[in-house]
Amino acid sequence: MTDADAALPPSGAAPRRLVDVQAAVNAELDRLAPVLDELGALFEAAGHELALVGGPVRDAMLGRRSNDLDLTTSARPEQTERILKAWGDAWWDMGRDFGTIGCRKGDWVVEVTTYRSESYDPSSRKPEVAYGDTLEGDLGRRDFAVNAMAVRLPGREVVDPFGGVLDLAHGVLRTPGTPEQSFSDDPLRMMRAARFAAQLGFTVDDAVVAAMTAMADRIAIVSAERVRDELVKLICAPHPREGLELLVGTGLADHVLPELPALRLERDEHHRHKDVYDHTLTVLEQAIELEPRLNERADLPAPDFVSRFAALMHDVGKPRTRRFLDDGTVTFHHHDVVGAKITRKRMRALKFSNDQIEAVGSLVELHLRFHGYGSGEWTDAAVRRYVRDAGDQLERLHVLTRADCTTRNKRKAERLRRTYDDLEQRIDRLSAEEELASIRPDLDGNQIMTILGIEPGREVGEAYKFLLELRLDNGPMSEDDATAALRQWWAERQRD
Ligand code: ATP
Ligand code: MG
Repeated sequence: MTDADAALPPSGAAPRRLVDVQAAVNAELDRLAPVLDELGALFEAAGHELALVGGPVRDAMLGRRSNDLDLTTSARPEQTERILKAWGDAWWDMGRDFGTIGCRKGDWVVEVTTYRSESYDPSSRKPEVAYGDTLEGDLGRRDFAVNAMAVRLPGREVVDPFGGVLDLAHGVLRTPGTPEQSFSDDPLRMMRAARFAAQLGFTVDDAVVAAMTAMADRIAIVSAERVRDELVKLICAPHPREGLELLVGTGLADHVLPELPALRLERDEHHRHKDVYDHTLTVLEQAIELEPRLNERADLPAPDFVSRFAALMHDVGKPRTRRFLDDGTVTFHHHDVVGAKITRKRMRALKFSNDQIEAVGSLVELHLRFHGYGSGEWTDAAVRRYVRDAGDQLERLHVLTRADCTTRNKRKAERLRRTYDDLEQRIDRLSAEEELASIRPDLDGNQIMTILGIEPGREVGEAYKFLLELRLDNGPMSEDDATAALRQWWAERQRD
């Protein structure tokens, strides 16, 4: 590194001085020394090369710390396994086909992968792996120059064949070889470009963007699970807007999340409704700002994928439900219900878990409910139903509903915020009185059967539902009142 003190020209993320990059990596290597020195010595003694590689090197240069260490070696997986078994507290095979052996020692998690020189069959969903013999060869098949750096152990020699240090200082993503070759080897790398733009705030090089645009349809051969994992990382990153705009701009989103570009509805000639796409990205950013509430009130760790994804999908029902009325207004009736259906379908295609699908789906479905609240004329029954329908997702629904206000009219925004404060206070008050979250009828199934003298069956279920509705309408009742109401319902039912 010559000219180490010179500030580099700005582009993308704030540029770093090379001298700072160097200092950061040295400080991190000192911190990692207890592990790296030991492992470096063990592999060297066994006649193998070993190097810290990829993410941890990049993150060390960015001054970020992590106890997850990716290493690469000339040793074959059996040899790696032998060394790690003797050294660590626990070890595992990450899939022998990929040549990765994992191992934990104290707080450290180490993954050691044999040098690769990968070749891909463009029609196959899984990369084919061939082991390689050199560190440089291994680095050459990595996705971006900033991820294609290594530090040899135990000597700490930085290996940077593709100018990763400079790219990192400038905050740009470039591929080691041509982006076209790289993306035809593994089209997932196009998603990874967007993910790193979102995570690191880096600019994606023009040539890379051009290749992503030209080759976007190749993403179709990548498995849904791999696409999903990158999408989740992108959405959970500090700057998801950058990544999402890149997906939309290059056309990748047309394949992986077509509902998002579809939000770019043309404005009608009267400009009567907002650009839904831009509104959506703002709602996502506002939801992120509100994330600390989820931690305080519902003990959810940030970043919270479910609330972020719900923010992104909350209006996806709009394009399909848009109607222009004769008086020039635009409506989106039932875009909540339609949007929830579209969201669930997309999440199933992306192989999300049922829990995640249910959580996001119900948030999208409920995101408009509050707007019937007006200035506080909901009955207690309506508040109870809101809480019951939101179930586990109540705190996230609070966040989504608050984030969904993007009006530039300060007075209007303030009024909505206060109205929602008021709703939350009413929920808190009712909850304290009635333990709303666990609303059950005042009588259980056994009591119902005893009181009515009936056997288990459909009628018990109907009685239970009747009592639940009554409980939601009236709040808690005494056992006597509930029994009387049940008897009356039963008598009327027998009469019908
Ligand atoms: P994080 O662990 O935070 O997701 P990372 O950079 O470590 O970020 P991983 O997905 O863990 O990313 O991959 C580890 C390293 O392997 C990367 O830094 C990169 O060098 C390389 N790599 C991963 N996936 C690919 C790919 N599809 N094509 C080429 N290289 C890849
Ligand atoms: Mg990693």
